[in-house]
Amino acid sequence: MKKIHLFPFLFISFLSCQKEDNLIAPEVDERLIFFFESFKQEGMLRGQNMTLANVTGSITDIDTEGVLGRCNQNTSGSKHLVIDSLFWAKSDLLQKEYVIFHELGHCALDRRHLDTKNKDGTCVSMMQSGNGSCKLTYHSQNRKIYLDELFLQ
Ligand SMILES: [Zn+2]
Repeated sequence: MKKIHLFPFLFISFLSCQKEDNLIAPEVDERLIFFFESFKQEGMLRGQNMTLANVTGSITDIDTEGVLGRCNQNTSGSKHLVIDSLFWAKSDLLQKEYVIFHELGHCALDRRHLDTKNKDGTCVSMMQSGNGSCKLTYHSQNRKIYLDELFLQ
């Protein structure tokens, strides 16, 4: 009798586990999960139903000067996002979001760099390369404009 009762429980937990795997990979540093979920949410609000299930993420020291994050794409199709630990330690929420969303733009949306300028010299896109050809400003007042551009491009 015990076994019969146990089986439905195991079955249900297996299903709910599968469902979570489809959203965000288990190998994502827990400090990044908030940003991954927010990225999915902002995308869904704009009709982008991309998967992050194949994107892992970690926060480690990146040696290359000036590089705050990167997203490595393996030939197998798996992707790994890395955020520099020093940058992480000294940055606020929006600065972290900017770098993580930029990298997920590469990894989850297949976006390339875009350095087009507005008339005032500011960057059209948060997918700017960082080479200084346009001026990046990312704050709570223009966040929505940049997210619209990121997901609707
Ligand atoms: Zn980039």
